[in-house]
Amino acid sequence: MNKNDALNIIDAKAGMLCAASDEIWGLAELSLQEYGSEKLYEQFLIKEGFSVRHGLCSIETAVTGTYGSGHPVIGILAEYDALSGLSQQGGATVEKPVPGNPNGHGCGHNLLGAGALGAAIAIKEYLKFTGKSGTVIFYGCPGEEGGAAKAFFARENEWSKLDAALTWHPDDVNQVVTGSSMACIQKEYIFSGVASHAAGAPEQGRSALDAAELMNIGVQFLREHMGQNASVHYAFTDAGGVSPNVVQSKAKVLYMIREATVQEAVKLEARVDKIAQGAALMTETQLSTRFIDGTANPLPLKTMEQLLYKNFVQVALPEYTEEEWAYAAALKNTYESVGLPGYAAKFDENIAQTVDKATDGGKRALNDFLMPLYHSSVTLPGSTDVGDVSWQTPTGQINCVTAPSMVPGHSWQMVSAGTTGIAHKGMLTAAKVLAAAAIDIIDDPALLPPIRAEFEHASSAGYVCPIPKGAKPEIV
Ligand SMILES: [Zn+2]
Ligand SMILES: [Zn+2]
Repeated sequence: MNKNDALNIIDAKAGMLCAASDEIWGLAELSLQEYGSEKLYEQFLIKEGFSVRHGLCSIETAVTGTYGSGHPVIGILAEYDALSGLSQQGGATVEKPVPGNPNGHGCGHNLLGAGALGAAIAIKEYLKFTGKSGTVIFYGCPGEEGGAAKAFFARENEWSKLDAALTWHPDDVNQVVTGSSMACIQKEYIFSGVASHAAGAPEQGRSALDAAELMNIGVQFLREHMGQNASVHYAFTDAGGVSPNVVQSKAKVLYMIREATVQEAVKLEARVDKIAQGAALMTETQLSTRFIDGTANPLPLKTMEQLLYKNFVQVALPEYTEEEWAYAAALKNTYESVGLPGYAAKFDENIAQTVDKATDGGKRALNDFLMPLYHSSVTLPGSTDVGDVSWQTPTGQINCVTAPSMVPGHSWQMVSAGTTGIAHKGMLTAAKVLAAAAIDIIDDPALLPPIRAEFEHASSAGYVCPIPKGAKPEIV
């Protein structure tokens, strides 16, 4: 069996992979509650001959499937959580929720998991038929949208045992992911005080609501003294009762603390903690905290980006039917799209010119081409727990077209596109590129050392896990 034969297995299994994606799209389970989706992957992995482990680091909706022995050990990362409030009929070009399920796959994780499964199966078959040394591990990682299972696994050093990790994300362009994104820590600050009659016995009351408000004010003043890249966001999750004539004895405020690196994020979190303690002291209330999740900044590696790009060039990109073009054009009309698609076009003038030409100035409904390779170290807004993986093993990511050009993330349009032929084709392409890159690593022992060397250099600051010891995954 050669590399092409292995990639053809993905086409042979296309029916099963598309059905898995569609079923998970229908289940649309929220972060850390993906019981049906996990079960489905478990069944597929068992059927395909992987040795399956259900649950990981006390996260029940995690699943791993391992095949092969010896090095290189390659992890293929899957996700399968949906988003609340994004119920939408598949393939529709108008906003139309589906009765009975309030959630939807607005980030395309139904496709992400199925594509990862396709890649893992092709790598497994290659190992099986060539008898080469190598291990492939499919990682079903719950809670990307909230929960950050990959960071919890990183706390237990799960990723350190890999020689490399590969993953992908549904998108509106075909590209190798480059650059970084923000480290982020989510934590709830819970104040409790003493309720009393606000007019009759105010001196007996100790207001938790005051404490939460003073904390927010304290953080306002902190903002002047944070790093340029830092940002802090908050939401009241409980402001006490609705009676102004009661001193509120309970209040909760959820914080999201973002920094360019995980090391800085953990330091900023400690400063926010002090402000919360100060607010409790001022109001004579009690403070407790509930850690929700944390993610590190991803480490981009040029060598890994080159390996993925080389394979992306070799894999045939999808061609679309007239109906698919028409659907994409109709969906594109439902949202505003300005500028050019793709990450690189924003930062590189030459690439911007190429993309401008290829997309007719951004007007084309589907970006049916491969973005030129672009290496970046720019930190973009947003966060992902793939970052934590990248601190423990060299990690590469690609994007494949699963939706019309410049489709907004986390939108009903993204949910609508998730069951279409466009999405299925993108998912199968992703599976092929990831499998092809993994097969290169298995075949050529000279490939990994430079990737590992770049990784050692990039991660020399040392990984700081944003998940404290003892913290358990929490559903917000
Ligand atoms: Zn998302
Ligand atoms: Zn996502």
